[in-house]
Amino acid sequence: VQTPNASIHSSLLALRWLARISSILLIGVFVLMFIGEGFDPARITPREWVSLLFFPFGLVLGMALAWWREGLGGAITLASLLGFAMFGDLSQGACLPSLLCASPGFLFLLCWFLSKAEKMPAGEEGLPQPSAPAQPGPGISEAVIARVAAGLCPKCGAQVKPAAQNCPSCRINLAFAREHLDQLSPLAK
Ligand SMILES: [Zn+2]
Repeated sequence: VQTPNASIHSSLLALRWLARISSILLIGVFVLMFIGEGFDPARITPREWVSLLFFPFGLVLGMALAWWREGLGGAITLASLLGFAMFGDLSQGACLPSLLCASPGFLFLLCWFLSKAEKMPAGEEGLPQPSAPAQPGPGISEAVIARVAAGLCPKCGAQVKPAAQNCPSCRINLAFAREHLDQLSPLAK
């Protein structure tokens, strides 16, 4: 049976690797751009330094950190995008590409959120699982089943002869009792 947990878990795994692979590709693109443009610190204006601090330095730092700390790394990635939008020279045409460059940050944050949501009902904190049946049959206690298996009275556990119609101790009709095991109190002795 595919539980909601299992489907969340597999989507989480797929999302996590989508985020990681896209982050590697984007970091690779940034590195190639730096090599291609011939990075020269002497020619960079203070305003450009601020811009570079967010984009790509903050972006790369966030995406690399998100491999271990998805929440923090994703947040740094998106904060860097926001900083670049506010302080950088974000022209009209740069909007979509920079959103695309920060997209692993959204994915990492989604993974972080999903992994938190997944932990809640997983029962790892010792929470009871309402859907998991603790007993072999619906409403039949293990004590009652053990009595039937041992040939005892299902209700009180007294020794009964195989041919007996009623329990010698509690007088219950044994044929009735064996057909209505779910109605026997597990507390009866
Ligand atoms: Zn009995």
